Amino acid sequence: NLVEILSDSFAPAVILPATGSGQGPAHKLFYSQLRAAVKQLQQQAPFAQLVPGTAVTFLIPNSLEFIAVFFTIVAQRAVANPLNPAYTVDEIVFYLKDVEPRVVVILRDAPNAATVREAARQVGVPVYEVSLELVAKYGPAGPDGAADGPAQPQLQRRLSRLPTATISATPVDAVLATRPLDGNADPLLSTAPPKAPAGTRSQPAYNPDDVALFLHTSGTTGRPKGVPLSHRNLLASINNIVATYHLQPSDASYLVMPLFHVHGLIGVLLSTLLSGGTVIVPPRFSVTRFWGDFVDLGATWYSAVPTIHQMLLLKADETYPGHSGALRFIRSCSASLAPATMLELERRFRAPVIEAYAMTEAAHQMTSNFLPRGMRKPGSVGRGRGVNVRILDENGKQLPLKGIGEVCVNGPNVFSGYQNNPKANAESFHFDGKQPWFRTGDLGFIDEHKFVVLVGRIKEQINRGGEKISPIEIDQALLTHPAVAEAVAFPVSSAVYGQEIEAAVVLDSSGGASVTEADLKAHISAKLAAFKIPRTIYIVDLLPKTATGKVQRRIVAEHFAKAIP
Ligand code: ATP
Ligand code: MG
Repeated sequence: NLVEILSDSFAPAVILPATGSGQGPAHKLFYSQLRAAVKQLQQQAPFAQLVPGTAVTFLIPNSLEFIAVFFTIVAQRAVANPLNPAYTVDEIVFYLKDVEPRVVVILRDAPNAATVREAARQVGVPVYEVSLELVAKYGPAGPDGAADGPAQPQLQRRLSRLPTATISATPVDAVLATRPLDGNADPLLSTAPPKAPAGTRSQPAYNPDDVALFLHTSGTTGRPKGVPLSHRNLLASINNIVATYHLQPSDASYLVMPLFHVHGLIGVLLSTLLSGGTVIVPPRFSVTRFWGDFVDLGATWYSAVPTIHQMLLLKADETYPGHSGALRFIRSCSASLAPATMLELERRFRAPVIEAYAMTEAAHQMTSNFLPRGMRKPGSVGRGRGVNVRILDENGKQLPLKGIGEVCVNGPNVFSGYQNNPKANAESFHFDGKQPWFRTGDLGFIDEHKFVVLVGRIKEQINRGGEKISPIEIDQALLTHPAVAEAVAFPVSSAVYGQEIEAAVVLDSSGGASVTEADLKAHISAKLAAFKIPRTIYIVDLLPKTATGKVQRRIVAEHFAKAIP
């Protein structure tokens, strides 16, 4: 089961970077300390007295508390349901009604407390607060010496590689203490088994098909859909990820994605912990602190959506220290990475950029380019690892190499159906007589090297007079212009063509001010056939994005919606 991934390693499990000016040093926590925190919450937290299978919703930003609460819920055989802590009352109500949790958990003194409490009141669910305190503790040798522990030499070596501002100059160890939680017994939890005296509590038995995590899709193409993921799904996926990137205990990931979606939670946190490595958890992504933390704390990789890579590139002149420290690779996932961006990232930050293809329903990763460096193809999302990939036509017939159709997957990582959504379930699986194939909704093909190339989402294809055009191709052509920072093509309805193409771009603030629509059209005319050139290209300040940083093409299209001749 998933809790077993917290087994010992010589490396720290979590590093919490210093939180800015005068707010204390960086802390690191070993695996044993994380396990102790989970155990403490299991024994002390009223929200942990749960009936197996019950859902617990928590709205906690990236933090040690998030990680400890997640494992506490899973260790109780309950279902973890993390939600974006920035949601409004209405949004939280929507999710609570869909998930039907028994308890909601937030951080003590959190800014979202009033919002969450109001939503929970409307639905009738109790809210609990949690907080963990880091108490600095020095090893036997004092603040500048080594802490105890059998594998200390390797750890010291890793830390001694760090430049001067190292965390070894700060307390080398930390212990957790929980603050008292809300003491009120919760009537809804009265059916929970009686609490065993501390220390005698037995670990409940697991079934690999028990649901451990309940998430919703990002809602890029419509209403978010509820996706239950089992221990089996999650373990299969994180094993695939660890194998794909050869993640080792000596690796440290720097977390920039939110933990309430699969990318941050599975793609970074859980895969790092399974490999016995270290995850560095800043409170949020900050483009200005990224490289300082990354290099000082010895990070070896990070994973992000293209939007974040793009932000790092745009600010590189001010923030990049001129070398990337121990960086081994950069992973890009969750939205299409333009080859131009990929090459620029590699040139600037001097490490291979590995693109992966993932979705909530597959417990994150389905395919990836992989290390070593040779196995990487710009423009492709690589091969399935532990996941079977087929391209099927509308009738479920498998297409030959290079045939464009719907990308379909099966494997132990793939979920078995949406919650409360029989319509989506009926549309989303194809049975070939032996096994179910999950229809991803993405169009793509498999090339001569068995690498998957994505063409776009089926729902987003633009149909211009019968000619099907993938908007991603137009986005990518626009992104090759040096002044374009973000681009999104979308359809508008047209009397003549049915649909016509338009696009919106955000220009690079440093050098793009003088670029005009005509310049952009001239630039892409060299790359795209005339019928793919957008009729109008709007220059805008900002594009709408999901919480995970995906550009919301559908919202942009709605904004510019009009009927044209
Ligand atoms: P919804 O299903 O609610 O519309 P969503 O599909 O964006 O939202 P996720 O499960 O977070 O929700 O995202 C999965 C989708 O993200 C994939 O189906 C695919 O369209 C897209 N995606 C993921 N990785 C890549 C990639 N490397 N290149 C292009 N698209 C990608
Ligand atoms: Mg989807």
